[in-house]
Amino acid sequence: MRSVRRISDARDLLAEQRRRGCSIGLVPTMGNIHAGHLALLERCREECDYSVVTIFVNPLQFGPNEDYAAYPRTFDEDREILARHGCNLLLHPSAEEVYGERPELTTRVHVPELSERWCGASRPGHFDGVATVVTRLLNFVQADTAYFGLKDYQQFLLIRKLAADLGLNTRIAGVETLREDDGLARSSRNAYLSAIERQAAPALYLTLCGITEEIRSGERDYSGIAARGRERLTLAGFKPDYLGICNAHTLRPAGIEDQELVILAAAFLGGTRLIDNLRLAIDPIPAA
Ligand code: AMP
Repeated sequence: MRSVRRISDARDLLAEQRRRGCSIGLVPTMGNIHAGHLALLERCREECDYSVVTIFVNPLQFGPNEDYAAYPRTFDEDREILARHGCNLLLHPSAEEVYGERPELTTRVHVPELSERWCGASRPGHFDGVATVVTRLLNFVQADTAYFGLKDYQQFLLIRKLAADLGLNTRIAGVETLREDDGLARSSRNAYLSAIERQAAPALYLTLCGITEEIRSGERDYSGIAARGRERLTLAGFKPDYLGICNAHTLRPAGIEDQELVILAAAFLGGTRLIDNLRLAIDPIPAA
């Protein structure tokens, strides 16, 4: 595995691979590599000849009171794990390399509407930071396919839209959420949980599973179902941020006519904010 900090070095290595006719896959991460990231890398290696992982803790996507400084940075371990799992190129640029000397003056990317809902409402500016960095990374690497986790479902939809809107020549692929045995979605932020919080944490996933069952059994009062879900989270020791049942494409609150749904949730356990989602398709009502 090659490991480089400079985008120009990465470009030279990538040009060489393209000359050889290799397809290129990209997996953007913020590091602290875990099995969820490795699921993305595995899919990338199945589909592409040459795999690129980026590690960049993006200052633009953290709010002033969020965990940018405390975010787990484990570069040496990450590099070793990625090399062992067959990554070909690790790009880990500095903030200056990505944004130049005056980050406050850099061009930003905003995806209307999708940026404002759910996580966007709770974390103002977060998705502008994500959209801006991902546009840069997609442009630096010019991969055939870039892989993103469906765990961050709103982020996935936003990236797919920005790539389409800006005419970027990279296919955006979504990879199913990797979970612990008890259902908790793998996340770098799980490391913040105390032992007691870790025991309570699967209730987030279990609540989403319960809601899926209710909908499958024919219940259609989505706001009532969501309210009961928030109560269940509170009883399990969470402080719910949001829990919504939405159209899986627009993320608008679902109505009776919607057939592809996503249940999105974010909730605090102590100081740790966890997110999760489940998607489901309901059968169309047969014509009379
Ligand atoms: P992060 O380093 O947290 O920014 O995540 C980098 C990429 O890995 C994003 O596309 C995430 O959606 C994805 N990812 C994180 N956790 C998981 C997981 N448990 N399963 C699948 N993908 C994940």
